[in-house]
Amino acid sequence: MKRLAFVAALAAGFLFAVPASADEKCTCSEAKTKNVVWCPKCKHGMFFGLETKSQKLTETLAGQPAPKSKTDIKCKECLKAIENDGTCSHCHLAYTGGNMYKSIPAFTLAKGTRADPGSIKCADCKKAIESKKDAFCKTCNAGIVGGRIFKTHESFGKAEESMTLIKLAVATAEKCESCAVAMMTDGECSKCKVTFKDGKMKKIEKAEKSIQPEKKPEPKAPNH
Ligand SMILES: [Zn+2]
Ligand SMILES: [Zn+2]
Ligand SMILES: [Zn+2]
Ligand SMILES: [Zn+2]
Repeated sequence: MKRLAFVAALAAGFLFAVPASADEKCTCSEAKTKNVVWCPKCKHGMFFGLETKSQKLTETLAGQPAPKSKTDIKCKECLKAIENDGTCSHCHLAYTGGNMYKSIPAFTLAKGTRADPGSIKCADCKKAIESKKDAFCKTCNAGIVGGRIFKTHESFGKAEESMTLIKLAVATAEKCESCAVAMMTDGECSKCKVTFKDGKMKKIEKAEKSIQPEKKPEPKAPNH
């Protein structure tokens, strides 16, 4: 009898010793100051006013800190890109604000300035930010996309395009995470056998070449 109690106590002790995931801290509030946040407790990602359940997509959009020491970077185009918030077409990387992005849409949005409703004087801009709508303000000659300010019409247009693609990736992630990541990085999804360029999906053609020219299939919309 005694022995049984001992075993039970041991089992209970063992159960309690299993690390609970309760020590995961909720990072949701960080979304107020950071572009892209993954909350390990609530298991969702937040960026530019959007939400996703995909950790992979969130990590892709978050980018990573760019190497601090220039000696770590061998590529000359990358060195230049770090200095002027640009892209390296050779490495398919983009740099801004000390971060390195594989995703051009994420980089494009990250280049905007965070809109702080408290410090904005223009009523039209304030309204746009508070209603979370994307808009271009003629008075300020600046656009607002995903709560960020873009100072030229051109950068506003690019930000709007990027936002559309990011929304598409969020929807795609619910069906295939790796497609969503590929969509953001001009990559490929080996599971679905598709590649992406500028957010558009293309089927990977079979390696064997046929002599007769085949009719090319129309590129499909990414709902598979
Ligand atoms: Zn949370
Ligand atoms: Zn490079
Ligand atoms: Zn304004
Ligand atoms: Zn896929």
